[in-house]
Amino acid sequence: MNIYIHIPFCKSKCNYCSFYSIPISRSEHNPAYFKYYFNLLIKEMKNMSQKFSLRDSPVNGIYFGGGTPSIMPADFFSGFLRHIENNFKIMDDAEITVEINPESGDFEKLSALKSFGVNRLSIGAQSFNPDVLRTAGRIHNKEDIYDTVSNAKKAGFKNISLDLIIGLPMQIENVFHNDIGQILNMEPEHISAYMLSVENNTEFYKIYNKNNGITFASEERIAGYYEILCEFLDKADYIHYEISNFSKPGYESRHNMNYWKRGEYLGLGPSASSFFKTGDREEIRKTNVSDLSIYTLNILDKSKNGTGTDFTEVLTEKDKINEEIFLSLRTNCGISSKRLIEFVKPDIINDFINAGLMQIKKCRLNDYIVLTVEGMLLSSEIFARIMV
Ligand code: SF4
Repeated sequence: MNIYIHIPFCKSKCNYCSFYSIPISRSEHNPAYFKYYFNLLIKEMKNMSQKFSLRDSPVNGIYFGGGTPSIMPADFFSGFLRHIENNFKIMDDAEITVEINPESGDFEKLSALKSFGVNRLSIGAQSFNPDVLRTAGRIHNKEDIYDTVSNAKKAGFKNISLDLIIGLPMQIENVFHNDIGQILNMEPEHISAYMLSVENNTEFYKIYNKNNGITFASEERIAGYYEILCEFLDKADYIHYEISNFSKPGYESRHNMNYWKRGEYLGLGPSASSFFKTGDREEIRKTNVSDLSIYTLNILDKSKNGTGTDFTEVLTEKDKINEEIFLSLRTNCGISSKRLIEFVKPDIINDFINAGLMQIKKCRLNDYIVLTVEGMLLSSEIFARIMV
């Protein structure tokens, strides 16, 4: 099982961000406020553990995501990891990741995280260009990224991931090439690259169709950038192991792989999801409410069993098959052709192969179907066509 802990606080809201995160004021930025949130999370963890009989379950991965986890004081992480240890069994080689924003990646904090057993950092670089960063509403500059990566290496981290966004406004072609070059210069073990999608709950959405001097890249341009990135990273020996993720061999994110392989996970905090297989082939997904005030009331409300859940879904057989196909096809492992043709007509698969969107990968005695780079770009359309 993996554990995800959502830290919903940020210093300010980025213009493209659709995650559940809230900008916190100076007055909220204090130990008492964070302690209160810490106690809610611990309460939720204990209640969920009891409700789903998770006590002493082996934990292979722990992920502090957000929001901006690096906004929290160092003792938040040591305290939290201690509680996890007391309730579950953290495996010796567990991957423990903390997301870091470059403006809050100081050496003291990163060293402290390392000493608590955190062994992977995911740093939100997004771009190195000042105009791109400013337009995106980021509050860091490129020097902050260099400093954070250098602090992380100095603190002893040997598994560092950098995030990049493809297709931000003002990220013209030479800027994008420069972004790739800067990332490669830092030699991170892992790179996540997300194509910009303007979601309706973002600042960008409000200005998307207004003529106010901000130009958004077309889908074609973003697709072109994605292909350029894939080529560069391939030449630099990164494995393209999932649509948006690249790593040096052996550095695939175990937290993400658990999700794509449909492993169980416990999600804590507002907007976090949990996924459990509860015996007799029953699979359930629980999603917490994306609102800190309601989440707080839910946790404190005994009639709701003290969990932050807003929505519980019991997966049907059809849901399970669709998830298996879509999640497998996102990765470079793909899905065995034998399994895929149980649900999708061979003609349809052949059409995709002939169109250069899927390919057959031989592995030992089996054939696997995987998406090509062009197929990854059209993954939503492909998934819609093969949905059972
Ligand atoms: S720092 Fe991350 S979570 Fe916070 S607003 Fe920006 S993108 Fe969203």
